[in-house]
Amino acid sequence: MNESDTSRHFLRQWIEKDVADGKTGGKVVTRFPPEPNGYIHIGHAKAVCVDFGMAALFGGECHLRLDDTNPAKESDEYAENIKKDIRWLGFQWSGDGDGVESGFYNASNMFDKMYEIAENLIKRGQAYCCNLGQEEWKEYRGTPEKPGKPSPSRDTDPERNLKIFREMRDGKYADGEWCLRAKIDMSSPNIHFRDPVLYRIRHVAHYHLGEKWCIYPMYDFAHPIEDALEGVTHSMCTLEFEVHRPLYDWVVDRLDEMGMLVERGGVKIRPQQREFARLNLTHTVMSKRLLLQLVTEGRVNGWDDPRMPTVCGMRRRGYTPGAIREFCERVGVSKVESESEGALLEWCVREELNKTALRRMAVLDPVKVVIDNFEGVREVELPNNPLDESALTRKIPFSREIWIDRSDFMEVPEKKFFRMFPGGEVRLRGACIFKCSHAVKDDAGNVVEIHGTWDPGSWGGNAPDGRKVKGTIHWVDAATGVKAKFRLYEQLFTAKDPLKDGSERFLEHMNPDSLCEKEGFVEPLLGTAAPGERFQFERTGYFVADEKDFSPSSPVFNRTVTLKDSYKPA
Ligand code: ATP
Ligand code: MG
Repeated sequence: MNESDTSRHFLRQWIEKDVADGKTGGKVVTRFPPEPNGYIHIGHAKAVCVDFGMAALFGGECHLRLDDTNPAKESDEYAENIKKDIRWLGFQWSGDGDGVESGFYNASNMFDKMYEIAENLIKRGQAYCCNLGQEEWKEYRGTPEKPGKPSPSRDTDPERNLKIFREMRDGKYADGEWCLRAKIDMSSPNIHFRDPVLYRIRHVAHYHLGEKWCIYPMYDFAHPIEDALEGVTHSMCTLEFEVHRPLYDWVVDRLDEMGMLVERGGVKIRPQQREFARLNLTHTVMSKRLLLQLVTEGRVNGWDDPRMPTVCGMRRRGYTPGAIREFCERVGVSKVESESEGALLEWCVREELNKTALRRMAVLDPVKVVIDNFEGVREVELPNNPLDESALTRKIPFSREIWIDRSDFMEVPEKKFFRMFPGGEVRLRGACIFKCSHAVKDDAGNVVEIHGTWDPGSWGGNAPDGRKVKGTIHWVDAATGVKAKFRLYEQLFTAKDPLKDGSERFLEHMNPDSLCEKEGFVEPLLGTAAPGERFQFERTGYFVADEKDFSPSSPVFNRTVTLKDSYKPA
């Protein structure tokens, strides 16, 4: 996909036209409306990039609106972390940071207004209270092919409807006994247009408002009201809401009739909704319900487990905000549902880290090497990042005993094995040429120590006589290296689509080997890494100092992504 394809997508053209037609009153206003019932994931990140990105492109603003109209599963913990994650992704709502937060909204703060609008609809004969039971409801509603039937309460007079609605609000009825419906069209081919529910009874406390309400507005009613009252011009959401759009417009029309649309720059702001395809990712699930299940059943270590597709999980994994934004940009905005490769996201991460991550040496599966003829301590100087001179160099002590990775040694070398084996020479990265003599084994036949000698003329890494040494091995000085833990991650699910057998069976597709923990050694500087700091461990991958569990005496590093992959973006 080339740059111009993604940057001039249909949403951008749509907004461009409205700006040109003077419909925005001089300011494009969008919103990102997460429900605080979980942590945001990479799919939400996509919406964040679109909502905030479009506003920025047109010099407008994007509101952060917590869509907290469904009381059951919402919490402040979720709300606070949504804010944190959006900021981390690199976006800001107006007033964030200066304490004003004029661009931050809780939908629940509009409950009084929504209630007032509902009463207005009743008074105007555009809404009525209905007490059909669940079974009757299905029957009356019809099917896409078969028109619905009018509820027996459809023509109740406004006065009686008002009385019942107030009784609903006052807690006189049980959940489901009554609801408020819009009076639209029971024979509409669009089932969402057949007198949809606007308010339902739920005797559940709200995380902010407590017991104040026992009736709550439905999304289809609340959302256009929120958009309209906030002066939102362009309301972008995912494709499944396309069939709800006529209802969205119906509500906006009613608000217009009631004179409730906001004016800006002499223009009445009529919010409009458009839809784009969800972001789907292979080898993971994205529904907050399923992610919550993984957390509550202890199948992962919390919402921020680095295997999770959540923004906080990706942060803890070592992904960068820039790489996530780049990924969303590359995926583009489309009208067609598709699945994105997790490999593309990893590619974006690798691209960025290759440029920015400091190089370090770490040995994940250590075996000791003793350089029998080496005395004292020397210092090796290596670049922090060969691609970036300004990253300067670092000095690492080197002495008689070092750790190397077990996989860098073979007692009997295979063909084309250019690393360490008895009788062969290798370069110890940045230090010298080493010739292995023999390995010491335990009773079980495991190599416990490797011996050999160095060529004193080769300090710095090159042979004095110019002889060729093919293999270069990374190492950690045993005297000064720091013991460390490494967490290596694989896909959380083995199936490309874990939902292929239905969401009840998604756990069956979990990868039992998605986390592998190792203990080894890192060069001394890494003991003082800052939590969240990212590195390239030469030859083993990109790693991040774990933001929670890292301490200088017990460093923990998470592997963000391996060094190489055959994947290339289209
Ligand atoms: P989930 O199904 O994961 O619970 P949701 O759509 O119910 O997600 P909300 O908090 O209601 O989550 O979503 C906030 C915004 O993020 C909505 O505008 C929604 O359309 C958008 N969004 C959610 N998931 C995705 C996704 N996978 N791709 C793009 N946008 C998404
Ligand atoms: Mg939702």
